Amino acid sequence: MFSYCLYKGEVIVNLLEQKSKLSYSIIAALIILNSMALSLFMQTQIDSGKTINSTAKQGVLVQRIALVSNNYFDNLHKQELSEELQVLLEELKKNHSYLNALNNPIIKNVMYDASYQYDNLLENYENNVLKFLKTPTAKLLKIINYTNESLLITANTLVTLVADESDKKTEFISYFLLFSTMLILVVLLIIYKKITLFSIAKTQETIEELHQQKAFMSAILENSAHAIITTDTNGIITLFNKKAEVMLGYSADELVLLQTPAVFHKTEEVIQRAKMLSEEFNADIQPGFQVFVEKTNRDLENRDEWTYVHKDGSEITVKLSITKLIDTNNITTGYLGIAEDITSKKHNESMIKKYMKLIDKNIITSSTDVKGKITYTSEAFCKISGYTKDELIGQNHNIVRHPDMGKEIYEDLWAHLLEDKEWVGEIKNLKKDGSFYWVEANISPIYDFDGNKVGYTAIRQDITDKKLIETISITDGLTDIYNRRHFDHVFSKRLEANRDNQEYISFLIIDVDHFKQYNDTYGHQMGDAVLIEIAKTLKKSLKRQDDLCFRLGGEEFGVVFYTDNEDKAFTYANEIKDNIENLKIRHDGNSASEYVTASMGLICLKPNQVESEDLIYKMADKLLYEAKDTGRNKVIMKDVL
Ligand code: GH3
Ligand code: MG
Ligand code: MG
Repeated sequence: MFSYCLYKGEVIVNLLEQKSKLSYSIIAALIILNSMALSLFMQTQIDSGKTINSTAKQGVLVQRIALVSNNYFDNLHKQELSEELQVLLEELKKNHSYLNALNNPIIKNVMYDASYQYDNLLENYENNVLKFLKTPTAKLLKIINYTNESLLITANTLVTLVADESDKKTEFISYFLLFSTMLILVVLLIIYKKITLFSIAKTQETIEELHQQKAFMSAILENSAHAIITTDTNGIITLFNKKAEVMLGYSADELVLLQTPAVFHKTEEVIQRAKMLSEEFNADIQPGFQVFVEKTNRDLENRDEWTYVHKDGSEITVKLSITKLIDTNNITTGYLGIAEDITSKKHNESMIKKYMKLIDKNIITSSTDVKGKITYTSEAFCKISGYTKDELIGQNHNIVRHPDMGKEIYEDLWAHLLEDKEWVGEIKNLKKDGSFYWVEANISPIYDFDGNKVGYTAIRQDITDKKLIETISITDGLTDIYNRRHFDHVFSKRLEANRDNQEYISFLIIDVDHFKQYNDTYGHQMGDAVLIEIAKTLKKSLKRQDDLCFRLGGEEFGVVFYTDNEDKAFTYANEIKDNIENLKIRHDGNSASEYVTASMGLICLKPNQVESEDLIYKMADKLLYEAKDTGRNKVIMKDVL
């Protein structure tokens, strides 16, 4: 808006300058022409006057010569008349050459005109008068008298002609002067209309725009969210806007042209800044107005935190930026200070810092880039994982991955994240010392300002204790493998999941042979020890992460496992059977072997085959008894068609 106004102003000034130059050149040319015409007029008047005078004088001279010649001839006062005649002749000659010298075209025409022969006539007349002076004969006198008439007539004619010519010229020049003066008036009128009226209109327009801009400026000043204060070069306040009044409790009338900003600054702070600036610039900076504008005067960015003191004594923290006010000649006329109240911002910042510290200390959180490389970890995360921040940052997040966590869980996690979805789940993580902790993790993608995914943030809750209780509830107290409750919970799910499975799922039911007998022979405690050993063997025999073994009750166990085909499932079951016998625990009362053995029923379901838990269990149990009935220490398998 301002630049548009300035641009418009410059365009108008340029236009006016051009128009004025042109108009004043035209007027100057006209005035010069007028003056020339006037001087020509004057010259003509003077020339005409001189010519008429000389011509008239010539008439008078020849008349006088004629009179004196006649008297001279009559011998009256001969000596005196001779002298007078000589003087008159001299004057006539002078007048004659003066007339020639006047260079008047009319006179020249008459003088040298073939019919008039005026010049010759005059010259002859002069010669005859000279001759007559020497020898005054009647004949010469007669010639003189006769020529005298002609000369007089010619002189009269000349006077008339020159006067006529002069009148004509005067008339022409007068008209010309009248015309050129009128022309000047017309040009002046045009200038008035085109320039003066135009200038007035444009100036009015500009004043109107300036009024609008002033209103606009005032609106900005009065509605500004920041305190705006200007000073002259000595620091005297020249402007104090509404926000400054509200912020500091002073009215503009109390301060403008009366005070410097020192009135609402802390003296100690000004003294301290003066010291700091003196050291920084190696100069003697006094604790006065100079402290506020030193950086500005050095053309450095001047944007610092200051403490303002409200009229009521309360303190306000502001971010104050000070710039120069410069006029069109590039001379500093004062300073502009814009102060932002950052008291609450500072308070909030410190609160946020406190909260951040609390979060850092208590919330297990970390961020990674899109490839899973750790970019941030909280203190709580370091504490639970046993690593320092330095050890974690830059590492891949799988540094805390526990081998117990199956790959499916991570596949699910990445599937969510790659689709920009949040993932929530429970994860067992590995500590630096090899132990573990459980967390409930909430992992979600993070984005930059342009909406590009830049990584992931995880917020976790320590659920190790909860997991411990949960584990206890699904673990058999004696053998430390999953109990019947967990079997009931998991088995049905696994069977249901087989709907989409590409592999063979098997259920193996195991019952220790003649275990009652074992107890009776070796004692219940020894019997317990056998059960523990069998459980360990089962656990060791599992091939995949998702293969599971359970104590189903008493001396009965169950294994759920996956294979590529039925043959492999049968082999797998037999391996388990052999592993138990290979424990070589003596069992004298066992009809099937000298060692502890077990009989087993195996059910293998094809991919996508779905059957009820009850049916599978019953079928497996039936096979188990078939194994018992047919000699024990064996696996009996049956396809479910
Ligand atoms: P079979 O070969 O037909 O299975 O013979 P069995 O003696 O094993 O038959 P049965 O299933 O009738 O006996 C199970 C025995 O297992 C009964 C019980 O004394 C024993 N038993 C069950 N639970 C425990 C236990 O927790 N500890 C010990 N020591 N023995 C148990
Ligand atoms: Mg039994
Ligand atoms: Mg038994």
